[in-house]
Amino acid sequence: MVMAVANLVGMTSAEIEAAILELGEPRYRARQIYAGVYRRLYRDWEQFTDIGKPLREKFRARFSIEYPEISQVFVSRDGTRRYLFNAGAGQRVEAVFIPEESRDTLCVSTQVGCAMGCLFCATGRLPMLRNLSAGEIAGQVLALEADRGVQAKRLNIVVMGMGEPLNNYENVMSALRLMTCGKGMSISPRRITLSTSGIVPGIERLASEPVTPNLAISLNASTDAARDRLMPVNRKWNIAALLDACRRFPLAERRRITFEYVLIGGVNDSIEDARRLVRLLGNLRHKINLIPLNADPALPFSPPAPERVEAFAKTLADNYVTASVRRPRGEDIAAACGMLAGVESVASCRK
Ligand code: SF4
Repeated sequence: MVMAVANLVGMTSAEIEAAILELGEPRYRARQIYAGVYRRLYRDWEQFTDIGKPLREKFRARFSIEYPEISQVFVSRDGTRRYLFNAGAGQRVEAVFIPEESRDTLCVSTQVGCAMGCLFCATGRLPMLRNLSAGEIAGQVLALEADRGVQAKRLNIVVMGMGEPLNNYENVMSALRLMTCGKGMSISPRRITLSTSGIVPGIERLASEPVTPNLAISLNASTDAARDRLMPVNRKWNIAALLDACRRFPLAERRRITFEYVLIGGVNDSIEDARRLVRLLGNLRHKINLIPLNADPALPFSPPAPERVEAFAKTLADNYVTASVRRPRGEDIAAACGMLAGVESVASCRK
């Protein structure tokens, strides 16, 4: 009987250990393999020089080391890189690498398409095709490390690319465990931010995890009427239910929940919206990321006028709210927030 070849990318140390023991090899071989794949980024059995050749051949017949395949890389004039991965069957997903002076950031995707249908988001116009596996999610980080020579533990990871991560809960959490494992990628959970459109049961489940990433909420409106229109998820879990779940989310000292607010011209960018936002979030430890909508002819909206953005941010600051206006990155390569649509043409994370 021919045994199936298992991809080590995506397997936990316990899974690798079980497979190695099943092959009749000692436990420490699993540790060598795990460190080789996740820490040293070995992609070929020849690189495992701490394992003798005959044994390497035995492992080669049983295991592969396959990263998500990069089909194209678009490089922005501001240094942002949009990676288009081949997800099989003609499907594409994207990751966006944003180099910065202080620390580089990688925005990863969790699904092929998205079922949430947020009106301001290019991914929301795509059909939801499938969940990415843990290996396909963590593998985006490994692929970037290999491509750019950066170390995973020096990255900020934002789980804000294509897809609603809490709709792919198990695989996303497995991927986060791989990313934070001290024997491998060693990314601090404090450097990982998961952004959700507001899946309340998912936030509650996340709250019960022993190790949690930073939480970001894609809010984008100050009234239920406006949010119902922009984000259909609000019709199921409205702003009150969402903020209630946020209040119950355990926050370590000095940690805050980030609320992302895409400013849309004439829709949610008034001074009144800013004042309502202050009142809504008043009793939460939070900060606000204001994201002026990127111009996109396919969207039924316009970017906000610069003076409206300024007035909005000033209203928040006058009320002692920590808020920053996100500078668009990678607009020229369709890599800015809200633009990820798996497109192969050159034309920013989304939430
Ligand atoms: S903003 Fe996020 S949850 Fe909403 S459609 Fe886009 S990818 Fe999906």
